[in-house]
Amino acid sequence: MFSIFVRQLNNSLCGIWGLMENIFTDEYFMKKALQEAEMAFDKGEIPVGAVIVVNNTVIARSHNLTELLNDVTAHAEMQAITAAANFLGGKYLKDCTLYVTLEPCQMCAGALYWSQITKIVYGASDDHRGFVKMGTQLHPKTVVVRGVMANEASELMKRFFAERRK
Ligand SMILES: [Zn+2]
Repeated sequence: MFSIFVRQLNNSLCGIWGLMENIFTDEYFMKKALQEAEMAFDKGEIPVGAVIVVNNTVIARSHNLTELLNDVTAHAEMQAITAAANFLGGKYLKDCTLYVTLEPCQMCAGALYWSQITKIVYGASDDHRGFVKMGTQLHPKTVVVRGVMANEASELMKRFFAERRK
């Protein structure tokens, strides 16, 4: 009787886990980064947002705050790296994935190098100031996925600069 119950419970948990695995796609977390970018937009900041995820849990979320803080280092990624390390109680972001709406600049790529982060997923490419153009190397352990919801991220940037020109 008990074993049947356990088996049923097991089956339904597997069902739930199966579903959850499907929910937690790169797009799922990139949407959260885009929500952060929208928050930056609403504050008059260049709309870049980031989240850091470990085991399908968001442990840090941030958006660009360079204007508000009068600080050129207040990029979304820099804040997310600090917040995630604080959360984990260690400086290395092992098993962590950074989702960021725009390709990191060389400053952020440098910080990500030092963090030894496991994976970086970014949306739109930055052909002018992105780390790829600048030739900045990431940590050899870091896996990079590019172009996730790139259209949404670049539309937000275009809308921001169009409104600023008005
Ligand atoms: Zn940056």
